[in-house]
Amino acid sequence: MTTPDLFADSASQESPKSRVAQLHQLLHQYNHSYYVLDHPQVPDAEYDRLFKELQALEADHPELIQPDSPTQRVGGRPLESFTPVRHAVPMLSIRTETDTQASGAQAFDTRIRRELGLSSEDSPVEYVAELKFDGLAINLRYEQGRLTMAATRGDGEVGEDVTQNIRTIGQIPLRLPADVPAVLEVRGEVYMRRDHFQALNARQLAKGEKQFVNPRNAAAGSVRQLDPAIAAQRPLSFYAYGLGEVSPAAHAITTHHEWLIALKAWGFPVSEHVRLARGADQLTTYHAHIASLRDSLPFDIDGVVYKVNSLGLQRQLGFLTREPRWAVAHKYPAQEMLTKVLAIEVQVGRTGKLTPVAKLAPVFVGGVTITNASLHNEDEARRKDVRVGDTVIVRRAGDVIPEIVSVVLPTPEPVSEAQATQSQPAIRGAIFTMPQRCPVCGSEAVREEGEADFRCTGGLFCSAQRKQALLHFAQRRALDIEGLGEKLVDQLVDQSIVKGLPDLYRLGLVGLAGLDRMAEKSAQNLLDALQKSKRTTLPRFLYGLGIRHVGEATAKDLAQHLGSLDAVMDATEEQLLQVPDVGPIVAKSIRTFFGQSHNREVVEQLRACGVHWPEGTGLADSPKPFLGKTFVLTGTLPTLSRDQAKAMLEQAGAKVAGSVSKKTDFLVAGEEAGSKLDKARELGVMVLDEPGLLALISQAGVE
Ligand code: NAD
Repeated sequence: MTTPDLFADSASQESPKSRVAQLHQLLHQYNHSYYVLDHPQVPDAEYDRLFKELQALEADHPELIQPDSPTQRVGGRPLESFTPVRHAVPMLSIRTETDTQASGAQAFDTRIRRELGLSSEDSPVEYVAELKFDGLAINLRYEQGRLTMAATRGDGEVGEDVTQNIRTIGQIPLRLPADVPAVLEVRGEVYMRRDHFQALNARQLAKGEKQFVNPRNAAAGSVRQLDPAIAAQRPLSFYAYGLGEVSPAAHAITTHHEWLIALKAWGFPVSEHVRLARGADQLTTYHAHIASLRDSLPFDIDGVVYKVNSLGLQRQLGFLTREPRWAVAHKYPAQEMLTKVLAIEVQVGRTGKLTPVAKLAPVFVGGVTITNASLHNEDEARRKDVRVGDTVIVRRAGDVIPEIVSVVLPTPEPVSEAQATQSQPAIRGAIFTMPQRCPVCGSEAVREEGEADFRCTGGLFCSAQRKQALLHFAQRRALDIEGLGEKLVDQLVDQSIVKGLPDLYRLGLVGLAGLDRMAEKSAQNLLDALQKSKRTTLPRFLYGLGIRHVGEATAKDLAQHLGSLDAVMDATEEQLLQVPDVGPIVAKSIRTFFGQSHNREVVEQLRACGVHWPEGTGLADSPKPFLGKTFVLTGTLPTLSRDQAKAMLEQAGAKVAGSVSKKTDFLVAGEEAGSKLDKARELGVMVLDEPGLLALISQAGVE
């Protein structure tokens, strides 16, 4: 067996010649899957590792370099189903600076200065720094200002005619202003935003169709889609970053940056993150700046690109076989990596939901170390067919939760290209099945009809559910019991000190101080926090009870419309359905919860322990002086937390929005208020500090 076993020593004892041959075969196979089938078999980082190994072997043994080596060629052969297009100017690759640290920019600048024969006395070289979009390169050809052809890069010399599909991308102009050159080829990247990618995959799943591995793969698969009607439904975007043939030549333009400005003026999307940078230091700053933005960008990038700005210097530097000498891609840590599944554990949630979670060999991906990935439910685990011992691709991009994208099956050593694409069965672990019983309490696990999840039927008998219920009750948005964390709850439940929510309020100093990691001071702090938590609000209490399907917003609606806990407990399904956003499933769940005497008992005991809230704050009877007014909160207020201020305002009928707009009536600004404050001033929105807010509330007669 050859790679992709990441734990195998790739450069084993073989002779360089046979290793080169082996790498050729593997890389050809991976190229085929990636460029032709749009279905990568391994993550880019794994491909890059093997590619670098081949480059190093070829550097040490130049006699082994063959013209068809993957290091000598760009991309993959075009698909025969599309009409081939010979590029007027080849579409090359970009050399990669694999050093993801700051020194990568230094290495590039040093090389450029050496190749240009510059000494340390000469002034810094000017570069353009850009994002390296993770999509698909496209050449757009305009003749007399009209889009006549759009082609993929293909093998760099010959691409595929994908004009029909590209025409469906709204951001790509079909006609240009009159002053553009008669022949103008614009190059750029077609990509898919992360949110569009997630939505597309959700639709694919719902339709029972193939899901895409990542946004790049989805963009490439959509552009190279034979049916333009399907391509038209795929949400694609575009950024321009370069030129192909331009005729007559635009002599007035002498730098790459001027080209980008011209492209923007002609209606092409050009990234707002393009910067001019002088010398290595400014490139390094750019690399670090974009690294800090990477997660918040709406699309994937795999690095940044530095280009020598002067077109004259670009010509002087020229090209190597597959890449220009004047540009480099400076990468970031990969967002997809290979790792091994060590185990699949089943975790029990607050409502008894059983979730299979893959325990992974620690892997650094998207800038953090991952050791767990949820498999969500049995269907999902089976669809991905993840098994213990498998090598898997893990992806973490943006603020999306890390996930297993796919399993990489061991590849038998390919003998011919035909065989290379056929994977053979290998000995693997058993197919995952959900246990019949809860792994924590042993109660029966059931899957209700029409539901994807299995649930433990143990209820609060199940210590896992009890622990989750306590943590939920204690969380900041519920009863806000500071200091009641996971470790403590584990001890309280495991030692049977706390069996239900009311037991929390029966804890004493001596018992608490005897627990692990609990000194008298921390025990006293917890008791104080418990005491403080007794004074709460009805929405927080309702939310804290952990009724299935009752989130924070629903709890608020219930409290506002029904006014008191007794009214909620005794409401019929019809009455509950009158509450905004409460549908039949939620209404039924609330009825079921309060229909059970042990739940009512818990509520009574909590009240008896002193948990209280102002009652009678339903819509009908509480004053709503701020109805129709929109507030925005920003910065840190001196005494009120953000949640407290929000709750007060909402109770008085105000809407609390996240951003300042023309519709905002008041901005409540605390310390370190930033851009929202500037915006409010710009729009003439009234700005209040905390005392101002409290005065306004008391004037309005609410507390
Ligand atoms: P590349 O994708 O790393 O770089 C060249 C490409 O960068 C251009 O074609 C263009 O599409 C893109 N680009 C994005 N932003 C740009 C900008 N601002 N300016 C200029 N170009 C920009 O190189 P490549 O030769 O196309 O392919 C190599 C990449 O593909 C590697 O990252 C490799 O890991 C991956 N790959 C992966 C597999 C796999 O099996 N996973 C197989 C083959 C290739």
